[in-house]
Amino acid sequence: MRVGIIGWRGMVGSVLMERMRAEDDFALIEPTFFSTTQAGLSAPLASHAHALICDANDIAVLSGMDVILTCQGGAYTERVHPRLRAAGWGGYWIDAASSLRMQPEAVIILDPVNRDVIDAALRRGQRDFIGGNCTVSLLLLALAGLFKADLIEWISSMTYQAASGAGAANMRELVAQMAYLGLESGAPIADADAGASILEFDRAIATRLRVAGIPVAEFGQALAGNLIPWIDSDLGTGQSREEWKSGAEANKILDRTERPIAIDGVCVRVGVMRCHSQALTIKLRRPMDAAAVEDVLRGGNSWVRVIQNTRDESMRALTPLAVSGTMDIPIGRIRNLPMGPQYISAFTVGDQLLWGAAEPLRRMLRLIVSGTI
Ligand code: NAP
Repeated sequence: MRVGIIGWRGMVGSVLMERMRAEDDFALIEPTFFSTTQAGLSAPLASHAHALICDANDIAVLSGMDVILTCQGGAYTERVHPRLRAAGWGGYWIDAASSLRMQPEAVIILDPVNRDVIDAALRRGQRDFIGGNCTVSLLLLALAGLFKADLIEWISSMTYQAASGAGAANMRELVAQMAYLGLESGAPIADADAGASILEFDRAIATRLRVAGIPVAEFGQALAGNLIPWIDSDLGTGQSREEWKSGAEANKILDRTERPIAIDGVCVRVGVMRCHSQALTIKLRRPMDAAAVEDVLRGGNSWVRVIQNTRDESMRALTPLAVSGTMDIPIGRIRNLPMGPQYISAFTVGDQLLWGAAEPLRRMLRLIVSGTI
């Protein structure tokens, strides 16, 4: 199959390329690489047909593909997908961007959770398969056991989302902010070492975080030494678009838009490099003790890892750094809450570039080209 790959230079795309190489996916396809800025340069993996990178806006070349796999972003999808479909292109469109997710003809793909929905869509001849929001996908994977058993009445999720969730440039900016702060902190640290008060030290650092010299082009605000309690656009309802996605997308993935589970919370960007974390309050449909909840969670899928609710285990296994670059979905801090026997807390972490973005896309590609994952 001829597969056009777009967005492979970006954050999600780079991880996707790494995973496709590791799983030998390129042996199954004839890839053509596209870019909006690098057309004419050597392709990262030359196929028989295209040794050079093609122009990602060239509808005629794109139309020659059986599958288009894009992690280029929503603006690209909105510009190119309608033009391709209008030109009669009937290939499979696999996409990381959110633009098409809620379209009725699109399926949000997370096969460990909704393989039945994906298979039914393939049988019906649907052609648009879209990866879910990273935080939503990680939540559904972590709680898969409870969803399968229909034990959840509602979820409040408080997120701690990494810089990488905003893209490659944002990751660089976070480190640039840290470097700027490090360079600018020499004198205050020396003063503190020489006995200056901690309040003077704190004021000196806060001043450096607020001054014009710190790079903020991507985040619009210092993220190093700070956090940003708003992700994505403002819906004008008091809810951010990222927060809206949790309920809307999760229920579409679970194929229960007619009888939705309420999922909402506050989405927060924190100065973590990679991996999103979520603190959860869950109302169960019936009273359960924490041990029984852990048993159900363990059976959710092959990637979920229940972490013992102790200080040592939480510090060892339940941090973004512990999870970064792995397919594991640890969930811990599970305990009954004083609000009542149906309420439990949990904390989960996942690599939002792997299960949250690249992995469902490459697994969907494999399903299309080989019929299995
Ligand atoms: P990104 O890192 O900003 O990359 C997007 C594109 O930016 C690249 O394909 C590349 O396109 C261009 N680019 C320009 N300068 C670049 C540079 N210096 N290095 C790398 N690429 C550069 O975006 P992303 O985070 O991968 O997100 C892509 C899509 O996936 C978005 O729709 C996003 O919402 C979605 N998504 C992201 C995540 C996540 O965790 N990041 C998770 C789920 C879904 P050209 O080759 O055409 O220049």
